Amino acid sequence: MLPAKAALFIENKREWINLLIESKIAYVLDFDGTVTESDITSMMARHYGGEHYPECSAAYHRGEFGMKEWLERMSAYLPPDREAILAFAKERAALRPGLKGFLRSVHDRGYPLYIASDGFGLYIEPILEMHGCREHVTKIFRNRTFEDSGRLKTLTPYAHRSCPVCGNCKASLVTGLLEKGCRVYYVGDGFNDRFAAAYADIIFARDRLAGACSAAGIPFQPWDDFHDLLKGIDLANNHREHRFCDPAGKGILD
Ligand SMILES: [Mg+2]
Repeated sequence: MLPAKAALFIENKREWINLLIESKIAYVLDFDGTVTESDITSMMARHYGGEHYPECSAAYHRGEFGMKEWLERMSAYLPPDREAILAFAKERAALRPGLKGFLRSVHDRGYPLYIASDGFGLYIEPILEMHGCREHVTKIFRNRTFEDSGRLKTLTPYAHRSCPVCGNCKASLVTGLLEKGCRVYYVGDGFNDRFAAAYADIIFARDRLAGACSAAGIPFQPWDDFHDLLKGIDLANNHREHRFCDPAGKGILD
């Protein structure tokens, strides 16, 4: 049986550990047009889809269907040749400046970082590995592509159980992290990112996501590249640079 004082100390320590877990920042990054400078899924669909691409995309932009159906329709025009698709993607896989340093900084701070993509997705790991960035990403939530009867099909394992709009329900990922007590920082560029971003504690938005946030009156941090995001990390944790005591060490500092 522990003495009462020791038991209270352990209990307090547990509470502090819980508080630390609860205040943990989790980053959620879109991939196409966010991690990479170009939207590789759109480039692929345009390249292989020919005349079907503008037709399908115009219907999508008119709101006739969501990303989930767009993926289903456009993946049918991709060649069922994984190596050819990967070669196409890798040739166009320029990373947005500052990404590597940003990933390292987030990792060094102990924050989980997730990539959530609603594109074709199969090229994400190979591109990150090609650039030596995979190890700093906690988990990748992406769609799957597979060959069926000589055609490529898209499987959407992270789709919402009933909502027909997105292939990958990034909003579920964000709300799930919030339920775990994380503060969620969302980084994106696309119009479809607005669903998840609207639930995040802090939104880093550019391009169409910035437009959607502005139109809806949702506050966001504009960003151009990952050097801007690094400034954001320091702003968000500015208070940690100044310490009066060290509770894990000797207590009050000189
Ligand atoms: Mg995007």
